Amino acid sequence: MTEKWQEDVIRSARGQWDAGDGYEAGKSIVEHIPNEDRKFWAANILEQVYGLVETIPEIESLLNLARNDEKWEIEAQELLWDAKDKVGHVHNALDESAPLLTQEVMNLAYYAGKTIYNARNYRAMYDHNGSWILVAKAKTITEYNEDSDFAEALWETIANRQFMKLKIPTHCNPGCPFCGEMYGAP
Ligand SMILES: [Zn+2]
Repeated sequence: MTEKWQEDVIRSARGQWDAGDGYEAGKSIVEHIPNEDRKFWAANILEQVYGLVETIPEIESLLNLARNDEKWEIEAQELLWDAKDKVGHVHNALDESAPLLTQEVMNLAYYAGKTIYNARNYRAMYDHNGSWILVAKAKTITEYNEDSDFAEALWETIANRQFMKLKIPTHCNPGCPFCGEMYGAP
């Protein structure tokens, strides 16, 4: 069941997306998604664009990390470093000789990794707007890929009403100073 406020948010975000502003579209959507859900939201987007390229072990690891909640609980401290490592690896794995689309998918994975990590609410977080950049990267990929059906399906994954649970926009992390300025106290 879709609520009217969700349709209003999605319509406005879609306007930003269509105008080529994936970053603002990302902000418009993500601020309505509870932080703990953002790792699943990001993993869904990553999985969809990952389908465009060959197997990349760093992306497999990130997807597993995003979806394995139990593992996080048991080995949170160890995995915290593992997650940082994974994000670093994804970044390092960017190979300038790789096809452009592969590079863009790796680039998106880098920001998906930051979003997945930040969704754990650890204090030492990555860029608070990593999830907005993730959507900007998704927009870039639709431009490279030139497949309107794929672009439409990817948009549906980004503007997933099931994750948009918060009518009032919220912080990326309770301790985020930037979000504190935008949204007030969490
Ligand atoms: Zn923030």
